[in-house]
Amino acid sequence: MYQPTNFIPTDLTINSWEDLKPYFDSLISSKVNDSEALGQLILHYSETLSVFHEQNAWSYINMSRETTNQEYLDRHELFATKISPELEKAANVVEKMIVNHPSFSDLPDARFGQLKKKLRRELELFREENVELSAEISKLSTQYDQLTGGLTVTLDGEEMPMPKASVRLQSSDRAIRQEAWLAISEKRYSVKEEADRIYDDMLKLRVQTAKNAGYDNYRDFSHDQHQRFDYTPQDAVDFQNAIEEHIVPLAKKIGESHRDKLGLAKDDYRPWDGAGEPEGQEALKPFKTGTELLEHAVNIFSEIHPKFGENLKAMKAADLFDLESRKGKAPGGYNYGLETTGMPFIFMNAAGTHRDVVTMCHEGGHAMHTFLTNDEPMIHYRDTPSEMAETASMSMELLTAELWSKFYNQKDHIRARREHLEGIISFFPWCATVDAFQHWVYLNPNHTSEERDAYFDELNGRFTSGLVKWDGYDHFRRNGWQRQLHIFGMPFYYVEYGIAQLGALQVYRLYKQNPEAALEGYIKGLSLGSSKPLPEVWEAMGIKFDFSAETLKELVAFVQQELNDLQD
Ligand SMILES: [Zn+2]
Repeated sequence: MYQPTNFIPTDLTINSWEDLKPYFDSLISSKVNDSEALGQLILHYSETLSVFHEQNAWSYINMSRETTNQEYLDRHELFATKISPELEKAANVVEKMIVNHPSFSDLPDARFGQLKKKLRRELELFREENVELSAEISKLSTQYDQLTGGLTVTLDGEEMPMPKASVRLQSSDRAIRQEAWLAISEKRYSVKEEADRIYDDMLKLRVQTAKNAGYDNYRDFSHDQHQRFDYTPQDAVDFQNAIEEHIVPLAKKIGESHRDKLGLAKDDYRPWDGAGEPEGQEALKPFKTGTELLEHAVNIFSEIHPKFGENLKAMKAADLFDLESRKGKAPGGYNYGLETTGMPFIFMNAAGTHRDVVTMCHEGGHAMHTFLTNDEPMIHYRDTPSEMAETASMSMELLTAELWSKFYNQKDHIRARREHLEGIISFFPWCATVDAFQHWVYLNPNHTSEERDAYFDELNGRFTSGLVKWDGYDHFRRNGWQRQLHIFGMPFYYVEYGIAQLGALQVYRLYKQNPEAALEGYIKGLSLGSSKPLPEVWEAMGIKFDFSAETLKELVAFVQQELNDLQD
């Protein structure tokens, strides 16, 4: 854990912007005569941000644990709408001061190279007039969340939210699947017009944002805003094409074998069958309680590396888990790094499913990343881009898979591992679809909603197996993009998952050949945080930052081999 200076107390209580303002005033008025003083300013700035981030994190964590607690809701709202915008403006002043200082360029690149790139990019893109637009987009985003988050369907006389209804799509009873799928699809389609309206409004604002910053189109602006220093938008397009060529055929094979397992004829594989279990097969039941899940996780992580297990134990001792599903909890799961504590908080909604096991290992991978970067004094380097963050977590899913035997008998263990690998393959085509869709949307911003749906359907033709018979439900298929919340609230944030999965598969392949070397690389790479460019971080892990067709082809063959080896 890094040792902070005494610039700001790490336990400062923040109840308003006024509590933080004196520290920003002090940063802004500090005398910076040489590069040493500039280095000091950067550290003090980083510590101030860390104190803010830790309390901002708790405001979010507490709210997600008790979404009906008014005190928590108010505090989260305070941070989101009052303190954060003030902080953003003050941060911009400090960052200008740092970047425009004559000594900034002289800071050694070996240590400050990445910081220079990040801060310069932020300043290049910053436009006062875009702060307003961004607030408007965020309001639209909340509208979309409210529109879709509140949807329910009634099945068997019980009104239930969509995630709960979706569980029925895995039923081995085809009639139950069909009924659930129809109810879900109809409900989603009933808000299509409103969702289209929200998206059109977002699109206009985003196009304007890019224009204000001097860009021709929002795609290129967004690419730069995501600080994607190590690949181009064209690389992402090439990646989509490589997925079409090398992964779609394997995904099709997986679909065919699933259809056969369900005992369905070629022309009888319907949209409600994709997640169904074969008759007589129950869903996997790996554990009963959150305590049991954590106990197994500690053992599994310890077996991979003693330090990994100790980290989870330290979190447990500090009460940094909330694992079990409970009424009033927000949906989903996350690992939230705590910047002054040096440990993260893991939140999830475990209900005893196999997905929960994978989520626990995934978030556990993020958690190891938090621990491995907590020696780094600069918050800018502890914060890693998603391409790397998700490589850490997705690698951990694969590294732990062999030890899921703690949850299962041999037969179920093989089934769980197969389903996991098949899920990895099936994810890539959807990742390419979501990315390609947005490239088109923002390069053709004057399209109509009919043209948009038609383009999405064209992508369905390219990236789905073509095995599913949609007769009578084509309108649901064309509208499929509306179920991906990233497309609304987090534009262009998706290709990272595909890139990271390729990193994770390489880490896993290396682990199978040489576990010590792979672990050493994993630890080394994660420890770098974002202090080095992605290709260098991946090199430290012993893998290549490369999502070319050739690498993709090679890794798909590796997964295929793994699947062949996992026969019961
Ligand atoms: Zn993740």
